[in-house]
Amino acid sequence: MNIANSQEEGELRLYQLTSHEAHELLWKREISALELTEAVLGRIAQVEEQIHAFVTVTEDLALMQAREADERIRAGDASPLVGIPTMIKDNICTKGIATTCSSRMLENFVPPYDATVMQRLNRERAVIVGKGNMDEFAMGSSNEHSAFFPTRNPWDRERVPGGSSGGPAVAVATDEVIYALGSDTGGSIRQPAGFCNVVGLKPTYGRVSRYGLVAFASSLDQIGPLTKDVTDCALVMNAIACYDPRDSTSVPQPTPDYTKSLIPELKGLRLGIPKEYFVRGMEAGVEQVIWDAIAKLEQLGAEVEETSLPHTRYALAAYYIIAPSEASANLARYDGVKYGFSASDAESMWDAMDKTRQYGFGPEVKRRIILGTYALSAGYYDAYYLKAQKVRTLIRREFEQAFERFDALVTPTSPTVPFKLGEKVEDPLQMYLSDVCTLPINIAGIPGLSIPAGFSDGLPVGMQILGKPFSEETLIRIGFAYEQATDWHKRRPPL
Ligand code: GLN
Repeated sequence: MNIANSQEEGELRLYQLTSHEAHELLWKREISALELTEAVLGRIAQVEEQIHAFVTVTEDLALMQAREADERIRAGDASPLVGIPTMIKDNICTKGIATTCSSRMLENFVPPYDATVMQRLNRERAVIVGKGNMDEFAMGSSNEHSAFFPTRNPWDRERVPGGSSGGPAVAVATDEVIYALGSDTGGSIRQPAGFCNVVGLKPTYGRVSRYGLVAFASSLDQIGPLTKDVTDCALVMNAIACYDPRDSTSVPQPTPDYTKSLIPELKGLRLGIPKEYFVRGMEAGVEQVIWDAIAKLEQLGAEVEETSLPHTRYALAAYYIIAPSEASANLARYDGVKYGFSASDAESMWDAMDKTRQYGFGPEVKRRIILGTYALSAGYYDAYYLKAQKVRTLIRREFEQAFERFDALVTPTSPTVPFKLGEKVEDPLQMYLSDVCTLPINIAGIPGLSIPAGFSDGLPVGMQILGKPFSEETLIRIGFAYEQATDWHKRRPPL
């Protein structure tokens, strides 16, 4: 990279760097963390009005952290993320910085502690530029359920960025930050990554600590990176993946060095293509992009074979019992007493709780709470929740069997390109269907990576790569090899 030349041409765009590129320049002292952070803040000032990715911009904090990072670099700190600006989804607790979950309920909530992932990033001296917009409490696929404002897709601002991590995906796609952290309960990292042309990884359940992640559906939630390329994905995973005794579902397993998987060839890898993921209603343009990408993987040395996962068709129904059930229990804590919004016009304690929840939650959150409360109620528990858990076991077993034959499975991330704002928001079922390819992965607890695979009608298409539990290294290897052979990930929206 010739920064000097670019400077002469007046084209130095530090905000366009990836983490690994920025790290190299920081380490060689060709740039400072302060310059990088100022460039990123300038970019936010330039484009944020058009896309609305941030709930909060922490400019002063970022500048202070950048100065500290520069001191650390001068003292010889070579951590890969030192001094690199990032956005954190607004459901990850950040000490002293509002964490709203894009909900009226938590609009003024300032956590007294950091999530484990934040402690990890702070230890690396990352620069926190702000908090990312999302669907309220991570319930949604379009960011239209944010209580504040919808984030817009930078490829076409009349379209949705996906959700619920829409803010983080858009901020990375538009170079407002170098990378971001999101959360994924049923596709919330991968689907917006696919819709915005960035890389998104949902790690294995238990790989990254959920401590400090505001709970939506605890048996499905997982934090993961959104990045400009697969190398950055590996670097962020190195920083955030760890065993954490404060999360009882965190798995006590050492974290590998994910950068060791950045190998640009796929010889001997067996890839399965499950036909059920090419669902009815899938757009022909999306299907074409995915088959072209699969052909590319074959050229790179992978052995490709079609396969079948017949229980896939039950995953959506099982998810929409399990996730709302867990949500209804998790969100019971918002009663106006302990934290968050509290209705002041109440006549009694019960009235206060009623009104707090009535005013504090938006319609989609209420829909999920009602659905979940119903599914868990006496008399219906066996018919719904228990049945869904049994289906979950079948789906998990089916994946286990597939991974006896295949190193990974390849599917589309979503059946369509980004849809129009307003197109599905009045029709919850249509909205839920947009996650049909991503939900089964959370149900099974396995890792899933979405990478840019091409365009249909000028809009991005994501390819999803799935592996058995704790096979993030394989996914990173496949994603990296594909990325080395293509340049889709380098395309940026015209803003
Ligand atoms: N879109 C899915 C839902 O609404 C998944 C959301 C998520 O992964 N947080 O539940």
